[in-house]
Amino acid sequence: MILNGKVALVTGASRGIGKAIAIEFARQGADVIVNYIKDEQEASKAVDEIKNIGRKSIALKADVSDFNEVSKMFEKIKGEFGRLDILVNNAGITKDRSLKKMTQEEWNTVIETNLSSAYNVTKNALLLMQKNSRIIMISSIVGLYGNFGQTNYAASKAGIMGFTKSLAKELGRQGITVNAIAPGFIESEMTKKIGFLKKKILTYMIPLKRSGMPEDVANVAAFLASEKSGYITGQVINVNGGMYM
Ligand code: NAD
Repeated sequence: MILNGKVALVTGASRGIGKAIAIEFARQGADVIVNYIKDEQEASKAVDEIKNIGRKSIALKADVSDFNEVSKMFEKIKGEFGRLDILVNNAGITKDRSLKKMTQEEWNTVIETNLSSAYNVTKNALLLMQKNSRIIMISSIVGLYGNFGQTNYAASKAGIMGFTKSLAKELGRQGITVNAIAPGFIESEMTKKIGFLKKKILTYMIPLKRSGMPEDVANVAAFLASEKSGYITGQVINVNGGMYM
């Protein structure tokens, strides 16, 4: 139990990678706040699973791209828990289209949800964080290599890497570590959309010849959230089965 007694917030935690991280954190002894945007039912299922593990949990609705909604969520976190030890900025979306065809709305929504959310959530979280807290960002392999049809997504995820490295420098003195995980091809609702490419990706692009599971990311997040990772900061950790693009 490497996260005993810690309080964690995971954004976009009602399903997929975020949910797996929330559950793993609870298994490791943390109380977990489950942020969600739409699916109240799925969020309360995640909360129930965490409670069954024996930890405290609440679901809080907020659109991470909206600073005011996020601030209100943090007022509730302050009232309920009084502090925050671990933040995982996980919520993210894709709106894929070649740049020639991409609308301004598709560009802006992805940047606001995946990148401006880092400002909105982390800025509020820092008010509740003590020395030696942990911030984990979920970036992507696409932020490293780029991908056809994903200029918006790649820019947002590369932006997350720059955010991570800069904030690590600002918070090092307080022992607060800031790291990013860059997942490769992980089974989730997001990658269902590109299911038709799966065989090609597994055969030619992933040396381990399997897609990743949300738990593969959750295990690394738990380590980065724990005291065991205290000398790692400003890093981008690839969790991708050796994938290259
Ligand atoms: P997913 O679509 O299952 O999960 C994304 C979650 O974010 C959902 O619960 C969704 O409701 C939530 N969300 C979206 N917009 C939100 C908003 N404005 N406010 C609050 N919550 C919001 O996909 P996933 O694969 O679990 O993705 C999780 C993270 O991992 C994302 O940041 C994604 O970019 C990243 N990622 C995924 C993969 C992959 O292969 N699945 C690879 C690299 C990076």
